[in-house]
Amino acid sequence: MRQRVAIAIALLHRPELIVADEPTTALDVTIQAQILAEVQKLCAETGTAMIWITHDLSVVAGLADDIAVMYAGRVVEKGEVAPVLDMPLHPYTAGLIGSVPSRNKRGEPLKQIPGMTPNILRLPPGCAFRARCSRATEVCKQEPPFGEVAPGREVRCFHPLFPETKGEAA
Ligand code: SF4
Repeated sequence: MRQRVAIAIALLHRPELIVADEPTTALDVTIQAQILAEVQKLCAETGTAMIWITHDLSVVAGLADDIAVMYAGRVVEKGEVAPVLDMPLHPYTAGLIGSVPSRNKRGEPLKQIPGMTPNILRLPPGCAFRARCSRATEVCKQEPPFGEVAPGREVRCFHPLFPETKGEAA
């Protein structure tokens, strides 16, 4: 209830933008769904834009228009929600989506991204995802640029996962 009140207070003065950091974490799924529906309705009514920071891809899929996937403090992929979730181009995004339990068949082990997130205070040179990425090559020791690789799709990667290369993903 306190989280609902906090969201209501945030919307009270009809701000142009709200940044909501994991606002529904620790809520049960039913309450979370109610809050998401309320927030969507209120934002549509007031014209408020919202940046919703979350680890929950189902929330993203149900709520957002656009998604920016972050790794080690930087945006690594950006685009409209449906194309990014349906066809991730960055290996980290693909790993995240691949590790959602419901995508596994019954009896199969859960998929996971190997390795650990690097210490953000001591990031290695080049691509921060390099130690965990099956597509890493020599060039990945350099800083990958962030740019448009397909219409409406921005990625920070030297070897984005276009459909013809999906079989090489982590
Ligand atoms: S830049 Fe290289 S290491 Fe980084 S995600 Fe892309 S392929 Fe992997």
